[in-house]
Amino acid sequence: MANDAVADIRDRLDIVDLVQQYVPGLKRTGRSFKGLCPFHQEKTPSFVVFADSQNFHCFGCGKGGDLFTFFMLIEGVEFREALRDLAVRAGVELQQGGFVTPQQDEHRARLVNANDLAATWFHHILTKAPQGEAGRTLLNERGISDEMVERFRLGFAPDSWELLLNFLGSRSIEPDLALEAGLIQERRSGDGHYDRFRNRFMFPISNRDGEVVGFGGRAIGDDTPKYLNSPQTTVFDKSSLVYGLDLARESIRNAEEVVIVEGYMDVIAAHQFGHENVVASMGTALTEAQVSQVRRGAKRIVMALDADAAGQMATLRGLETMTDSMGSEDEQRKTNAFGIVRFERKLKTEIAIAQMPEGKDPDDVLRQNADDWPTLIKRAQPFLDFTIDILTADVGVDDARGKSEAVHRIAPLFRQITDRVVQAHYVGELARKLRLDERIVLSEIRRTNMAGRERSLRREVSRESEHVDGRARERTNENYLTALLLRHHQLTEDIVATVPLDDIHDARNRAILGTIASEDLAGMTAEQFVVGLDEEIADHADYLLSSLEGRPEQFPGQIRTETTQILSNLGKERFGFLLRGLQGDLREAEQRQDSDAIELLKEQLRSLAERHGRYNPPVSPYFKDSRSPAR
Ligand SMILES: [Zn+2]
Repeated sequence: MANDAVADIRDRLDIVDLVQQYVPGLKRTGRSFKGLCPFHQEKTPSFVVFADSQNFHCFGCGKGGDLFTFFMLIEGVEFREALRDLAVRAGVELQQGGFVTPQQDEHRARLVNANDLAATWFHHILTKAPQGEAGRTLLNERGISDEMVERFRLGFAPDSWELLLNFLGSRSIEPDLALEAGLIQERRSGDGHYDRFRNRFMFPISNRDGEVVGFGGRAIGDDTPKYLNSPQTTVFDKSSLVYGLDLARESIRNAEEVVIVEGYMDVIAAHQFGHENVVASMGTALTEAQVSQVRRGAKRIVMALDADAAGQMATLRGLETMTDSMGSEDEQRKTNAFGIVRFERKLKTEIAIAQMPEGKDPDDVLRQNADDWPTLIKRAQPFLDFTIDILTADVGVDDARGKSEAVHRIAPLFRQITDRVVQAHYVGELARKLRLDERIVLSEIRRTNMAGRERSLRREVSRESEHVDGRARERTNENYLTALLLRHHQLTEDIVATVPLDDIHDARNRAILGTIASEDLAGMTAEQFVVGLDEEIADHADYLLSSLEGRPEQFPGQIRTETTQILSNLGKERFGFLLRGLQGDLREAEQRQDSDAIELLKEQLRSLAERHGRYNPPVSPYFKDSRSPAR
């Protein structure tokens, strides 16, 4: 996750090392390092790097911040670029957007080429060769048209051990490359290779751009597994691929709607009957990467599921154990309800469920009565409505236990909804359906909330805790301030404008506050604002907003008072921190009787006092000195 990359980089890189590459004369003085400021012209050093807190401050020009901030300022780059470059330096791998060297690019092209050749060969076997007979029988049974065979480049892998291997060899594809592409496997004895797909109906799987990157092979007869996919390769990543997307893109844009089904055959049937905005997940639970791909151009996302799959998802089976395994949903075969609500929240989109009639999958519906399809899709219900309907369907008016269980089951799901209006809407729905007082539903949600809140408190050091060190407390205060100013940006427009960005350590908080201050956000919700941010910054903003969940409602006046107060505390903390550093240095210099250093430090104290005067610094002998020179 992006957040972890930022943390990893912070862990692995030392700001002192980084600054030293740009400020050659950086010298240790006590626990900090000093040098000539790279951001303004000066003859005596007033630029300080604090190794303990991993941030920097210039007493001359006032610039300051963390490692990322330093890099962004010195290189003149945006956060995204800074993240990428620093990740390389730190040896931290970013999930996406990494560098691709020309060599890697060429290797990738060779893998795609090997897959493409294999697709052509499988297709030839299915349509022309005697060994393809079993495949042609399946085509007939399933009623797949010739047009679809061409459109999806369907194929057949004959019942043989090395026909593909030999064919690839004849086209100068080395066994090593074919092996890496997942087309062949190594013999256990170690001498030679054999075809991975045998006696299987083949579905080439393409990426968004239509390049064949792997295969799904369906067994003919009772072979296991029923579906065999290409292994994970450089070009084949099941968790981010969507079957049929390359062929559905245009139709999705035109219809402004995408329909997700479970099987390859479902997709082919839909396209055959003229519904080309249909794609499939890859036989595993839907991932965020998949949803974020298909939603491009689509205002509406519909999942078309057979009654079994839909029911399982909505009855939230195994929910209790899933709560903790969130995020590892790729390994689950079925998409779970938490996943859906999380996609809806993270991707600011709504997912609707179209349930097929009992005992039928989309393929059956399309082939038996294609005219029903548009109606079924049109009638799809938003996921939460669908879930509430299913969970309350069998609960009678007098069934106290049934009501309790329904509320109990759905409460954890409601907790995932960050939009209060949406949450309130569904709380009302559930209460109405069960004929309960809304307050009872709400208190149940709050109870499940407690468990979650404890977890998030452990992650984030408590603001009130006496034991946290200054660095963690500062970061927490800063996060909380940024969260409040983001959530309530309409109320606090004037306050945002007064935030001294140079005193904000976390580059992501700076980016968020800077953008709030500089853009016209009138009429925009915090969530809408977040959409426009860079991914890593948006992740952080999401985290900040979710950290405010569960707090009691506040009046506008309270919010203004609180933000002003935190802002002032942050300034005081920062001032105190810098002041103590300078005072320590000054005492040392006085012991050494280094008059040059003493002069310089007093000068720096003066400029600190000017900049931070508004924080009413505590009385200090050194300030009497600098502020009333007559004495
Ligand atoms: Zn400076």
